Amino acid sequence: MKLRVLVLGAGFGGLELSTILSEALGNDLDLTLIDQQDSFFFGFSKLDVMFGRKGADAVKIPYRPIGKPGLRFRQETITAIDPVAKRVTTSGGTYEADVLVVALGANYDLSATPGLAEGGNEYYSFAGAEKLRDVIPQFTSGHAIVGVCGAPFKCPPAPSEAALMLHDYLLKRGVRDACTISLVMPFGSPIPPSPDTSKALLRAFEERHIQFIPQRKVHSLDAARKVIRLDDGSEMPYNLFLGIPKHVAPDVVLQSGLAENGWIPVTKTDLLTRFPGVYAIGDVTSVGTPKAGVFAEGAARIAAHSILASLKGKENATAYTGAGSCYIEFGEGKVGRVDVDFFSGPKPQGTHHEPSEMLVADKDHFGSSRKARWFGL
Ligand SMILES: Cc1cc2nc3c(=O)[nH]c(=O)nc-3n(C[C@H](O)[C@H](O)[C@H](O)COP(=O)(O)OP(=O)(O)OC[C@H]3O[C@@H](n4cnc5c(N)ncnc54)[C@H](O)[C@@H]3O)c2cc1C
Repeated sequence: MKLRVLVLGAGFGGLELSTILSEALGNDLDLTLIDQQDSFFFGFSKLDVMFGRKGADAVKIPYRPIGKPGLRFRQETITAIDPVAKRVTTSGGTYEADVLVVALGANYDLSATPGLAEGGNEYYSFAGAEKLRDVIPQFTSGHAIVGVCGAPFKCPPAPSEAALMLHDYLLKRGVRDACTISLVMPFGSPIPPSPDTSKALLRAFEERHIQFIPQRKVHSLDAARKVIRLDDGSEMPYNLFLGIPKHVAPDVVLQSGLAENGWIPVTKTDLLTRFPGVYAIGDVTSVGTPKAGVFAEGAARIAAHSILASLKGKENATAYTGAGSCYIEFGEGKVGRVDVDFFSGPKPQGTHHEPSEMLVADKDHFGSSRKARWFGL
């Protein structure tokens, strides 16, 4: 009997888990991988798109070439999940499985920040990043604010990266002296688990005259007066606002009964939800790691090994350490890296790697190795 697996969402988590199961079970697997999109892209490619470094075609990888044993891809929208029956309804039909894996990521709620849709921009969605490609060139003087509107949010280094990349962009165009840049973040430091990475980022902000405003979130925007309001009631004038919108689990997850307090709770040992045979991985969970691709990928490995172990009537023996490496664009053609481990010790530990040109190649390899592994490209 083939193992029937349904994987909902073909992002970082869904792709890694499907790849491991296909490698391990081959044609003894009957896995359906469902996503509403026709292509995958790395989160960091949105930074390249918004600053005009790359076009959409250069960063989107079509799902079409996935040709792995035991795996079929369906481009459909998931409209209902029944975790008790392990039954899923989509725009294309109904599916049932022995094992269900929810890897649907996080969506954005722009309406949670009054004025954001009318008076600001966001670069966390692909459409938002593409729109900014035309908006940013028009900004030649005044105050630019990169602002976080809610936590948790994906890829904690991404707001710092946007501020540093904006500095470079304005410098190259000869208008940096006419512009000021501020960064509003809900944390006390840019990367709380790594004091060294935080120090390096704060040093980079100081050298570039980027104002860092810690412990604050953006509450709302007043488009008519061109001011943002922070969560302490203070106001800041702006000419360009690059927002990180409030994140939410997809509606279909919230309606399924899988979520508690907005996200899906899972056990750290095997990424199982409270429903037997139903796993959840990545940004859609509240497992305790930041919302980032590397952590979704790590969770996918543990869930896949749990599925394989349970096939043999065993329990997964590999502990989930919540460890991963995040690359950080420091500007000036350099990339830094922070290696973070969330669960091995009593508190999260981060190791800083100084920005360098060598790490640019490292980051490129990170992308190309996933492209090869998941898509055979
Ligand atoms: C600007 C930016 C920079 C980033 N940089 C990095 C980085 O350098 N390193 C890093 O590790 N992470 C980075 N990230 C974060 C990373 O992109 C995400 O954390 C990661 O993609 C999460 O993986 P996931 O598998 O949980 O979800 P996703 O990769 O988001 O996949 C979820 C999938 O579910 C699909 N889906 C959702 N709802 C439905 C539905 N109803 N029906 C069908 N399909 C559906 C979506 O189309 C999507 O493909 C960045 C993010 C941003 C925004």
